[in-house]
Amino acid sequence: MSSLPNAPPSADLCAAAPAASTSASVDQRMSELHGLLRELETVAAAGQPFTPVFSPAIDNELAQVRLGTAASLYAVLQFRNAAVAGHALRVALTCSAWAFKMDLPPAARDALEIAALLHDIGMVGVPDQVLLKPGPLTAEETAVVQRSRKASVDILRRSCASSQILEIVESVSAWYDGSRPGFPSSGPRIPLGARMIAIVEAFDAMGTDQPYRSARPPERAMAQLFQCAGSQFDPELVARFAEFREKSPADWRGEVAQRWLRCLDPEMADSHWELSRASTLRTDLAADATFQARLLDNMYDAVVFIDAAGQIALWNHGAERLTGIAGSAVGGQPWCPELLKMSDEKGRAIAEADCPVRTAIICGVQSLRRLTIAGRGGRPVAVDTHAIPVAGENGATRGAILLFHDASSETSLEHRCQNLHDKATKDPLTQVANRAEFDRVHALFIAAHQQQQLPCSLAICDLDRFKTVNDTFGHQAGDDAIRSLASLLKRSCRPGDLVARYGGEEFVMLSADCTSAAAARRAEEIRKALAQTPQPRMEGRTVTVSFGVTEVQPGDTPETMLRRADRALLTAKAQGRNCVVQLGVGLTDKPAAIAAKQAGGAPALAGSKEILRQDLVTMMPMKITIEKLRGFVADHQARVIAVDGNTAELEIADRRLSLLRRLTDRPVNFCLHLHFEEERLEAVRREGGKETRDVERMWRTRIRVAVTTRRNRDRRRSDVAERARQVLASFRSYLMASEQEAVDSRGASSRVKPALVPWLTKRKR
Ligand code: GH3
Ligand code: MG
Ligand code: MG
Repeated sequence: MSSLPNAPPSADLCAAAPAASTSASVDQRMSELHGLLRELETVAAAGQPFTPVFSPAIDNELAQVRLGTAASLYAVLQFRNAAVAGHALRVALTCSAWAFKMDLPPAARDALEIAALLHDIGMVGVPDQVLLKPGPLTAEETAVVQRSRKASVDILRRSCASSQILEIVESVSAWYDGSRPGFPSSGPRIPLGARMIAIVEAFDAMGTDQPYRSARPPERAMAQLFQCAGSQFDPELVARFAEFREKSPADWRGEVAQRWLRCLDPEMADSHWELSRASTLRTDLAADATFQARLLDNMYDAVVFIDAAGQIALWNHGAERLTGIAGSAVGGQPWCPELLKMSDEKGRAIAEADCPVRTAIICGVQSLRRLTIAGRGGRPVAVDTHAIPVAGENGATRGAILLFHDASSETSLEHRCQNLHDKATKDPLTQVANRAEFDRVHALFIAAHQQQQLPCSLAICDLDRFKTVNDTFGHQAGDDAIRSLASLLKRSCRPGDLVARYGGEEFVMLSADCTSAAAARRAEEIRKALAQTPQPRMEGRTVTVSFGVTEVQPGDTPETMLRRADRALLTAKAQGRNCVVQLGVGLTDKPAAIAAKQAGGAPALAGSKEILRQDLVTMMPMKITIEKLRGFVADHQARVIAVDGNTAELEIADRRLSLLRRLTDRPVNFCLHLHFEEERLEAVRREGGKETRDVERMWRTRIRVAVTTRRNRDRRRSDVAERARQVLASFRSYLMASEQEAVDSRGASSRVKPALVPWLTKRKR
């Protein structure tokens, strides 16, 4: 029965005998006298008549339908002490009516009723002299009564299959403010059923004659409850209990009894009982709970428990800190996402149906989501939300745990990183990539495409006569035109492509897995579109753009590819602007490029300074070959060291970025020793049995190439042969040359002419 605050400890009649006695025989007699007096009081109290709730038969039947097999436990209590059993039945009936009024779900009501009926079963172990003591209890006796509550849990745990019932019984004696030792939970963390029973049983105990005092009138009992609201009892529930008592019909106990007898199914009643493993697995629930409560209270993250009925069963300090809502304000209240103004990544409010808690409870599915909630003072806070379903030992849903981790510092860090990244990589005027980003991506782009033997192209474009636009219509009009071009370029991008502002009114576009022919077609579409876009700040006039397009080819570095595209752009400007020009052979469908992919030259002879050597032939006359050589020299920024007749020596600094792995790596300076020889071919055409010799139009050029290093120490570098092969591959691509062995020499007559000198006298651009 209740250990109420109105049972103050009193002088102990059984106090130990004084240690030092003047007369031992007097003390002994006094002690015997005390014993006799107490026995007398006990017998007198036991003789008090006990009034059943309805009648002994109906009381038994009620216990039977409510408890099923476990009715025998109740019978034990009846035999031990009928008054305690009657108290339990009254508490159970009152709790049932109150729970009905509060609209508790049926499962919660079942657990509450059963817990109320058996919460005092441990009293069977309390001796009569304590149970029936007419006077106030000593501290020791009070401890005996309190231990009986633990005994109740121990008895029930042997056969009770419902941890919900066990948890209620275990917490009935807990004080709401957490001040009672041995009960780790406080406030709304104490199960709702336990908080309700605590109130009802105190009220019943006060309103019933006890061996130690007579019954108090209901108003006084209620006043006492209010006096202890907030300390021993849940203040909100005390108020609701008072309201329930005021508004409930006179015969509410009879109504509950009728409902039990009519509706309770004995088989369902039995479902709460089975030989439980809980007794072996959970030897000390209270100890577990102590650790758990400590953990929950000290966690920085917010933890919310929501029971199967959707009510908030726990709201830890972390939740109070994060939301500014006190646990006492929400404990026992229904959970809904609106409570915290939960919204998703796009700022849309989380609907009840989409709530992670609902998903956890109904579908038993865990979820992890980044959401926003209203934090302290309504300030939006980004949180990582983890909803975890909780099932009982029999698999039935018990509710859900909701964890909130404050992610605001992470999101602000992510935002700042994103802003910094944008600043570092984007052009502020057009929001396309900036030059630094292009340089970074370009190198990776080339390496990836060359490795996979896939074509990729680069287009570079520049607005035509743009100075005039600025001069005539002002810089703002110029800026608009720049943005127009940028948006057309962006629109034509596919995934994997990149547009960047290279400078002023120049843009570059990298097209992944795209030949230069296809890239040129895209450039042509952009060119046409811009030429047809009226510029509002230019009185509706249009601007035009010129394009240079090239495809990556063997041996290319980002620099050679970019210079080639730039040369193509200059050609477009020279051809009158507002047009697209392509340069270079690419990786695919060109015989020279295919040839350049093959093994790159013979290895050096022993003792020779040469690293590679190759005899090449290009199906072009010397004049065109020299033009191609000019492109190679320009794009590699090669230095012409010597020219003598038909031989030349070039120096190339190979700064292949992909090969420069360490900062201490320096470029290798290669020398290309070239010897040119032009050949005339006699091609024979047959027309109607007649042979025609076509000599003049068929020329080809043989080229002997030897690669050496400028410095002797570079020859010892481990990657020197690979670098030399790349330079040679590039040379072959530019000159569209293949290996000489593959070429038929029949019918060819050579002429060696000093063709290089006039070329050198031409002005290089
Ligand atoms: P061309 O056809 O040969 O390209 O002639 P052009 O006049 O366009 O010559 P160029 O490309 O050298 O001109 C670049 C001009 O672009 C110079 C500069 O005033 C202008 N410019 C560069 N950046 C900006 C910018 O951000 N806004 C504006 N309005 N003008 C810019
Ligand atoms: Mg321009
Ligand atoms: Mg320009």
